[in-house]
Amino acid sequence: MYDYEKTCEKFLEVNCKITDTKEEYDKRNKGIRFPKCNYIASCGHQHIVFINVFFSRKTGSICPSCKSKENAIKKKEEMKDDKLKHLKLELGDKKIQEKVGCIDKVKNVNVFCLWKNNGKINGKLNPKSYDIGDNDYYWLNADDKQLFYVIPEQILIEKGFVGYSGNKIN
Ligand SMILES: [Zn+2]
Repeated sequence: MYDYEKTCEKFLEVNCKITDTKEEYDKRNKGIRFPKCNYIASCGHQHIVFINVFFSRKTGSICPSCKSKENAIKKKEEMKDDKLKHLKLELGDKKIQEKVGCIDKVKNVNVFCLWKNNGKINGKLNPKSYDIGDNDYYWLNADDKQLFYVIPEQILIEKGFVGYSGNKIN
């Protein structure tokens, strides 16, 4: 049998608070092989757990529904990583130009500057557009890292973002 005070202490070590009173705890678990207790998990949700399971697995400090949400997010990220690896493999020997965008907070859109450095004029940077054939693909990473775009050069030529002279932001 797990002593009430000691169990409370051990739960508190992982930010979980037993909500049973000593009486409730003792009454429920008297003579029982696998005692249980009610507690508020570190995520703030009420849950009931077998105490031996709580101690043996480290997962109990978060309630099951928060745990499964956490797992779902992890899974999604793994899938995204897999897709990314696959895509990079597929693009293998292609010339890829990576660009990180920034967010225009007024319009709430991602902005990418498709410029390359064209030396300096009078000490000032002189950016110019990429020339046709510079790259096969443009890999645009959104600033928030949630999104990216892989755009074939041809599309950017058609849209006028690659292979023109002068500056243009989009
Ligand atoms: Zn929870």
